[in-house]
Amino acid sequence: MPDTAVTSAVPAPVRWYRPGPAISRLRTVRAPALRIAAAIALLLLLWFYTPPAEPRFRLCGFHWLTGRPCPLCGMTRAVFALAKGHVRQALGFNALSPLGFAMLFSLFWDSSQRGRLWSAGIKALAAYGALRIFFPGA
Ligand SMILES: [Zn+2]
Repeated sequence: MPDTAVTSAVPAPVRWYRPGPAISRLRTVRAPALRIAAAIALLLLLWFYTPPAEPRFRLCGFHWLTGRPCPLCGMTRAVFALAKGHVRQALGFNALSPLGFAMLFSLFWDSSQRGRLWSAGIKALAAYGALRIFFPGA
């Protein structure tokens, strides 16, 4: 028996939903507009709301366990500060907050560069986290 009989026994993947041409065209027109609208909505939220500079309680489990800041500690407050243009305050909360800001807003763009940005960002956050944990005064 030829090999093709063995490979043809494997069932083809089932497609549960296949959009028609009208829906595909609608998706390509609407998707960028929706992403831009969502990015603007997020920016407005970050602009109008200001979280307290010193939170009443910290949500970070790492900080709760160790007493040391994790790579993301202060990132939320920093992103809110960056949206208002308060760069120095944001850098005080978290030195990598501009990178975090760029990573956050890259989620709204369908680009091949996003994966590279996120890979580099995660590596930078890991290095920053190690620095924060082992050299807290630095
Ligand atoms: Zn943390």
